[in-house]
Amino acid sequence: MESVDRQFAQLAANDDGDATSRAELSFLRDVMRLLPAGVTVQDVEGRFLLMNDAAAAQLGFSQASASASKGLGHRLDVAAEILRSGRPVVAEEVAQLAHGRQVLLTTHRPVRIADRDLLLSSSADISEQKAFEDQLFRSAFYDELTDLPTRRVIEHRVKSLMSSDGSLERFALAFLDIDNFKHINDYYGHATGDALLVELARRLDRELRESDMLSRISGDEFLLLLHPIQSADEVADFIRSMLRRLAAPFFIDGSEIFASTSIGVSLHPEHGRSYDVLCQNADLAMYRVKNEGKGAAAFFDAAMEREAQERMKVEQSLRQAILEKRFCCAFQAKVDIRTQQIMGVEALVRLRGDEGVIQAPGSFVNLAVELGLIDELTHLVLTEIVKSIDLINETFGPKAVISINVAAKQAGNAEFMRSFAQALEETGFPRRFMIEVTEDAFVTKTLFQDEILPMLRKIGVGISIDDFGVGYSSLSALADITADEIKIDRSFITDIHKRPRSQGILRAIESLSAALGMTVIAEGVESFEELAYLQAATKIRYAQGFYFSRPIFLEELKPATSAYSDARVNLASRAAQYSRPNYLRGDGYRR
Ligand code: C2E
Ligand code: MG
Ligand code: MG
Repeated sequence: MESVDRQFAQLAANDDGDATSRAELSFLRDVMRLLPAGVTVQDVEGRFLLMNDAAAAQLGFSQASASASKGLGHRLDVAAEILRSGRPVVAEEVAQLAHGRQVLLTTHRPVRIADRDLLLSSSADISEQKAFEDQLFRSAFYDELTDLPTRRVIEHRVKSLMSSDGSLERFALAFLDIDNFKHINDYYGHATGDALLVELARRLDRELRESDMLSRISGDEFLLLLHPIQSADEVADFIRSMLRRLAAPFFIDGSEIFASTSIGVSLHPEHGRSYDVLCQNADLAMYRVKNEGKGAAAFFDAAMEREAQERMKVEQSLRQAILEKRFCCAFQAKVDIRTQQIMGVEALVRLRGDEGVIQAPGSFVNLAVELGLIDELTHLVLTEIVKSIDLINETFGPKAVISINVAAKQAGNAEFMRSFAQALEETGFPRRFMIEVTEDAFVTKTLFQDEILPMLRKIGVGISIDDFGVGYSSLSALADITADEIKIDRSFITDIHKRPRSQGILRAIESLSAALGMTVIAEGVESFEELAYLQAATKIRYAQGFYFSRPIFLEELKPATSAYSDARVNLASRAAQYSRPNYLRGDGYRR
């Protein structure tokens, strides 16, 4: 084998000595030698006639010992064969270099030069592209965090099981979802959340057979293929043992973490004959488990499908109602029980159904929260209030505070609260408003106290704790949240005059609120006796309830300029019935 230098030296010697050609040759020689691509020329026996530096490195030569070297036999045979066939060949080759592997794309081309059959080969280094392609391939088919196959892979596997004449092939698909994974992430941080996913995937994977497949299909959701299976009972046993294994604590970074998992299972062919239907049904079964307390497993059944269709119908009609803005507000007065004056009014949203039936929020507010439609709904309520402000002023008085309910989830969402506070400010009368939130909003109370409350304070919007006493954090809410008003839940007020224990609780809430400077409102006063008790035995000044007024639609009030005074007269005349109830005297209500 000849080095490039020698080859060119020979060419130069054969030349007739023209200085310009020699210079050109020397230039070409350098170009050839230093070309980043490997270039070789071989004769019909495969002998190398020319080899530049890059090719020498790729083939494991050093220029100093440019002689035929071991390991080249293969290359020699290949060359001879290509030359015999007379057709060019493109091939991917791997070169083992001192510093690692190199992937080459080599083009061999038989040529005829000066009556000699020669093989010209050039090799380009495609190691980087190859590494990139490999990485792309892995990320398309394997999850980076857990190293489990992705959704695509399991889908392909299931589909191939069904197509291999497998219309009757029995297998199970299980949908797994970690319960409250978001809380784990929020509480322990994302690194721990990730570590939990990895650990959980390992725990699951360990027990599987070669022919089963576990796949991570999104954040905290896994899909498991069990194949082959003999019976539903066998699957149920396996899933039960899996649940037990998953319920054991995880030890991550010194923390002991408990994470339960909800599982829904569908069986092929009983529960569906396509991948999509089977997944959907396993998902429905999982959804049922989530709704019934989590941390368990359920098999799909036909009733779930009907429920899902029902739910879908309700969802669709709610979305449609929001699109068509088919909402209105009913207003209920908050009354000073000592003077019978109206001090405020609460806006309560109502949905006008398809056939004009009015629905109370109990049937749709939670769904609106679940579907992420509640923010829009709350803005619609505010728009409705602004539109009716003149009528509100006429009916309840120009100073009545207007209360709007905000769901706990919204109250903890700084982004929504910022946009809502801005909308309140843009009404031009933000000081008229009060926001009612339940105690659940204070689960993340530092966020509420540090971020949300200042926003509201800045524009003069009041804050009220709704349904107080039945929520999750009653006392700590009172201790930490500087609210303006607390509304004692109706469950304490109903028959209060007959229930000493509720009376005790009421007294405790009352004195706590007085110490913290909050106004107390009794919710849901329905009877004369309840009111009489509040008046005689407590210092509570304000109440709301059917006894005074049901929530009313403003447009239903008779058009009269004196509606406000009518309402007061109305309340006053009721008040007259109980202002001095005879039986109260000496009946033993004590403060
Ligand atoms: P809430 O804020 O505690 O409102 C009081 C609920 O009790 C209202 O029910 C009201 O009609 C009812 N009520 C008032 N006085 C009495 C009474 O004397 N006896 C009885 N039995 N009930 C009485 P409504 O309008 O069905 O609203 C239910 C809940 O829906 C509200 O409870 C509130 O949490 C929610 N809600 C209402 N409007 C909205 C809204 O615009 N946005 C949000 N996020 N939630 C709303
Ligand atoms: Mg309320
Ligand atoms: Mg309430």
